[in-house]
Amino acid sequence: MNSDSRHPDASADAVDLAIVGNGAVAMSIAIEHRRRVPDARILVIGPGRRPGSASLAAGIMLASHSEVEATTFRHAAGRAKFDLIRTAVADWPGWLDELAAIAGLEPPRIRRGTVVLDNPNVSGFDPPNFDAILETLRRDEADHELVDPVDLRGYRPAAHLRASRGVRVPGDGAVDAFAVMNLLDGAAAALEIERLDDRVESVRDGIVRCERGPDVRAARIIVAAGAASDRLILGIPELEGRVPRVLHGTGVGLRCRATPEVTTPDEVLRTPNRGAGLGVYHVPFGSERFYLGATNVVSVEAREHARLGSLHLVLQSAMDEISSELRHAECRMVTGHRPIGADGFPLLGRTSVPGLWIATGTRRDGVTAAPEIARRFVNELLGMDGGLPEPLSPERAPIVVLDRDQGIDVAVRSRLIGPGSSPGAGGGRLEDEVRRQVVRLYDRAGLDVGVPAELLDLYAEGRLDGSNLVASTTVE
Ligand SMILES: Cc1cc2nc3c(=O)[nH]c(=O)nc-3n(C[C@H](O)[C@H](O)[C@H](O)COP(=O)(O)OP(=O)(O)OC[C@H]3O[C@@H](n4cnc5c(N)ncnc54)[C@H](O)[C@@H]3O)c2cc1C
Repeated sequence: MNSDSRHPDASADAVDLAIVGNGAVAMSIAIEHRRRVPDARILVIGPGRRPGSASLAAGIMLASHSEVEATTFRHAAGRAKFDLIRTAVADWPGWLDELAAIAGLEPPRIRRGTVVLDNPNVSGFDPPNFDAILETLRRDEADHELVDPVDLRGYRPAAHLRASRGVRVPGDGAVDAFAVMNLLDGAAAALEIERLDDRVESVRDGIVRCERGPDVRAARIIVAAGAASDRLILGIPELEGRVPRVLHGTGVGLRCRATPEVTTPDEVLRTPNRGAGLGVYHVPFGSERFYLGATNVVSVEAREHARLGSLHLVLQSAMDEISSELRHAECRMVTGHRPIGADGFPLLGRTSVPGLWIATGTRRDGVTAAPEIARRFVNELLGMDGGLPEPLSPERAPIVVLDRDQGIDVAVRSRLIGPGSSPGAGGGRLEDEVRRQVVRLYDRAGLDVGVPAELLDLYAEGRLDGSNLVASTTVE
């Protein structure tokens, strides 16, 4: 089989490793494996244009500390995820240089520097999550400085929506998703990793069944098809009820070009995470180009198109909270499906089905974490030390981080994001009404524990089963 072959002949030829999916996670694992075991036959299967790929739609913020939330370290899984991402952020410059040398391309430029803004007028998540970020920076003795938001270049929010505090995190930054995916494709081609432009229908008994071509036999298979992994995992009877579902977190971002009227920030400006996978951010790519993000609408099946409300939210939040001048910029919308594990955590590692591995559920950090996921994944495949974090193993009882009251509180705050409506910003009656609605949803879902706010509707509609959720014993 060569890299141009359309369909491998499964009866005559088997591959050592078939990777289902061709986003940042799949490509990074394929490349890492190829570099460590040059004579292994690796096949990456995924549609060439990557429809719905989260990796192509991402910012990409390379963020570890600025992603910390007040609940991050409550559970061993949160700690494991943070450590994975923190290591990855430090590795990115060297990783890009290595890939660029392999591909014979210029490495994409990383923009270092991120300022996190605390805006209590808009979101009840901002103050506690901002405090958690500060505390973690101090604990890790990571470089940071408090800044007065007024002094930030290009920061011109609506007067009543000025942030009250800001912290600059020089270690966090950003990189252009198109350039990264182009580099991964270039490196894979230079390493002669075999590719198949197809969709996988099912994965069973060491056989990958493709939509258009004949079956592929593989000694090992990694399901890494982003949010589409859910359908493939559901088709494996041995795993029924053993792996948390993977949802589609459809996100809208805007790739923009500044016009002369716009003064753009020259570092990442962002809010802390605002529950339900929300938050506002501006990511610069070059002197003129920048990215605005992002929304998160979660569903079981893929929604091909974004909602007008999502687009409206990105535009309004960016112009209200970052700069009203952004209205002069030119823009193009990008949409992708974040793979969201039903408990909010990644699914990484081997399953009890011989030869079958899973790499997905990375939610809002998958591109950032990709180099470290790849390194650890290949360590694990090769039976070496430094494998994947055990709490993120795919076959697990769903991780529960919040008790019911905490879950209700997070869901209420998620539904009260917006100028003047956040708890404590004068929205008392509204807050009471929203709390009653959220409690009704918790009751309808029969939930005794807290679930991620973005998934509450799916539990209440019966699309996700909350009956197997039990309070975790590993809360730190
Ligand atoms: C708007 C937005 C902003 C984001 N911002 C950031 C950020 O700033 N930083 C960050 O780290 N992360 C960010 N993320 C999250 C990040 O993009 C994901 O965590 C990550 O891209 C997941 O990578 P993946 O390779 O698992 O999935 P994907 O990139 O979604 O790739 C999956 C691939 O599998 C293919 N596929 C689908 N079905 C099949 C099938 N049946 N057979 C074979 N292939 C199939 C798809 O076409 C796709 O190409 C963002 C996501 C969105 C949507």
